[in-house]
Amino acid sequence: MEDKELYQHILGLNTPWSVREVKLDTDLQQIDIYVEHPSGTKFCCPECDQSLSCYDHAPVRQWRHLDSCQFKTILHASVPRVKCAEHGVKQVKVPWAEKSSRFTLMFERFAIDLLQATQTVTGAMGILRISWDQTWHIITRAVKRGQARKEHKLMPRLGIDEKAFKKGQSYMTMLFDLDNSTVEAISEGNNTESGIACFSQLSTDQINAVEAIAMDMSAAYVKATKASIPLAEEKIVHDIFHVMKLANEAVDKVRRGEHRERSKAGDKRLARTKYIWLTGKENLSEKQEAKLNDVFTLQLETGKAWAYKELLRDLWAHETAAEATVYFKNWYRRVIHTKLKPMKKVARTIKDRLANVVSYCTHRITNAVAEGINSKIMSIKRRVGGYRNPENFKTAIYFYCGGLDLYPQ
Ligand SMILES: [Zn+2]
Repeated sequence: MEDKELYQHILGLNTPWSVREVKLDTDLQQIDIYVEHPSGTKFCCPECDQSLSCYDHAPVRQWRHLDSCQFKTILHASVPRVKCAEHGVKQVKVPWAEKSSRFTLMFERFAIDLLQATQTVTGAMGILRISWDQTWHIITRAVKRGQARKEHKLMPRLGIDEKAFKKGQSYMTMLFDLDNSTVEAISEGNNTESGIACFSQLSTDQINAVEAIAMDMSAAYVKATKASIPLAEEKIVHDIFHVMKLANEAVDKVRRGEHRERSKAGDKRLARTKYIWLTGKENLSEKQEAKLNDVFTLQLETGKAWAYKELLRDLWAHETAAEATVYFKNWYRRVIHTKLKPMKKVARTIKDRLANVVSYCTHRITNAVAEGINSKIMSIKRRVGGYRNPENFKTAIYFYCGGLDLYPQ
């Protein structure tokens, strides 16, 4: 097989396109492929598909193709232009690349696969031998393509959460499809407007199809949901992890206060016990459990707070919201009569939002998906060495976590 014929096959070129010449440059480690079409070929207007004769040719352009062994492989062609009565002078579509891309379709497909597999932009850049800007260009185009093709599928179970961008200085709000573990909308900030901005990216059908939505206990997302989703009050579920985080923080506050008091009197038995109190009982090591029992017998306030925290966890084990409500009221009555100020504060916070905490028993959703996506984003961020701006950050999230069809054509 001649080299011209070989590349004709490799590139998947069909009439009217054929390979005119293949040049090998061993110094540059490059293969240049020149592609042409016979004169008199008719081409279609890219707008209306009308078959027209060639008007003229644009200057010769280059497209990077997949390497041939270690040799960079470059395709060269001058693209014909047609003159359409309706659309004017237009460059025709070429079968090997998308409009305005500097890479062939096969190269872009491979780049997308590689980026997804390695999850590191710099790593993929090295393998592909392309620049940072070129890589981002491929990523950005892939996301645009995916979003343009995206069908407005219905998502009955959603999650909304914030994500720090640049070490807690600024935030993004993300909307998740809990059933498919994908990020469906992103907006800047973490206030009510940010939440509304996320919901507004959904279609009316999608909004009406929402059955339940998981979130933390911040007022911002509650307000945003009420402003965007019909009958929101019945659909909001405060995420178990966020609620338990409040309880854990309260236990730690009690411990710190008590440790301070006891240290003054020379008693340091509460030192270095922080994580024992924050761990669920079944997750403690033998050594930790022994220590817990030790400290527990001291009848400390910390021990009491811990016990109430553990009891609270059983709230989510109930079959129905009604049962969970009864259980909580009982728990609340006991906590509120203690001297554990931080724990009492948490009890009141939960009481205020109780319907949307026990709604878990009806909808059975959590934002665990968000945690998974968060760690994925964090690991990508570490490997990329940070994102240059919020737009890149958003684009990367959609590229890696958007569940989009990213491939060209
Ligand atoms: Zn036309």
